[in-house]
Amino acid sequence: LFGRLERQAPDALLAIIGLHRADPRPGKIDVGVGVYRDATGATPVMRAVKAAEARLLATQDTKSYLGPEGDQRFTDLLAPIALGGALAADGRITGVQTPGGTGALRLAAELIAVADAERAVWIGTPTWPNHAPIFRAAGLTVRTQAYYDAAQSRVDFDAFLAGLTQARAGDVVLLHGCCHNPTGTGFAHHEWAVLAKEIARRGLIPLVDLAYQGLGQGLEEDAAGMHVVLNGVPEAMVAYSCDKNFALYRERVGALWVQADRPAMALPVRENMLVLARSLWSMPPDHGAAIVRTILEEPALTSDWRDELTQMCGRIRSLRAILGAAHPALAPIARQDGLFALLPIGRETVAALRAEHGIYMPDSGRINIAGLNDETVARFVAALLPHLKG
Ligand code: PMP
Repeated sequence: LFGRLERQAPDALLAIIGLHRADPRPGKIDVGVGVYRDATGATPVMRAVKAAEARLLATQDTKSYLGPEGDQRFTDLLAPIALGGALAADGRITGVQTPGGTGALRLAAELIAVADAERAVWIGTPTWPNHAPIFRAAGLTVRTQAYYDAAQSRVDFDAFLAGLTQARAGDVVLLHGCCHNPTGTGFAHHEWAVLAKEIARRGLIPLVDLAYQGLGQGLEEDAAGMHVVLNGVPEAMVAYSCDKNFALYRERVGALWVQADRPAMALPVRENMLVLARSLWSMPPDHGAAIVRTILEEPALTSDWRDELTQMCGRIRSLRAILGAAHPALAPIARQDGLFALLPIGRETVAALRAEHGIYMPDSGRINIAGLNDETVARFVAALLPHLKG
């Protein structure tokens, strides 16, 4: 059996991590890995998470099973933050806890496949490398459309809309809710409104991947575009991750919400989500979701979490401002959101930065802004400038 298996290429980012670790140069800079880092390069446990964990340790009196929906109170408390108050109370929307945003996307993919395996999933390029494999693993056809104009470092909105004309009614369109990975470049407010209308007019079903809420412009701002879409269409899905905005990465915390076209359909949708969850992971891991639930149950912890998230967001924004001011070719970085930006450089430059300066990023030229600090950003810019055009 296993003799039939072919070799698989290792994850490109893991290779970068290995190379960075092996580099003895003291001034080396890692802008590859996609996690938030503070000014010292650490990815700390948030204060509110520590406090919630202490509380759980003192008060949790059982580790007995939950159901396939996970911690329902977690999902219910998160809903107003992710969806806004009105949609959170909308009887057409039902949500369950999932193992991270990845689990939410996979559950969405399986739900689409049981509902109608002929529906294609449309993905704008470039995107997070795991998107297409997740949908293909559920047996769905993935189609791509242009999203980003690399020459101008902006969303190619006309090309994206033109791509939608290729989709058949009923197909699914994947949208990054905020902080686009890898480009950092999202739709403008008026573009979200046009998009919502186009998606509704063509009978398409949006699946919004919201993995970085609060790390772009703020919790409310980062979900505003998604709300416009959800309000403008009958059916939609939201795959949510708490792994970045609560810094819970390895705890695997996420949720999937599905908006049915009428309240009576919410129950069958939910029953199908639960049946699928049962065969995928039986039930999601509890600890991380219990932490988030504990934070959201307690106003003091909630406000401390919001404060720390705001501070993280501010750190990213100030680094973006420094990079954007360094060279005209980097100016778009100051207008983008979230952890990532795609540098306007080729593979040779990526290799040269690695060899000559110990600066590590994947071949795509995607950088994690939070991998920099006030000291390294100056060295980073100095190394980069000779390679920029204009
Ligand atoms: N969507 C996007 C765009 C991501 O970048 C990531 C994580 N890198 C995820 C989803 C998945 O997040 P999680 O770690 O919660 O599975």
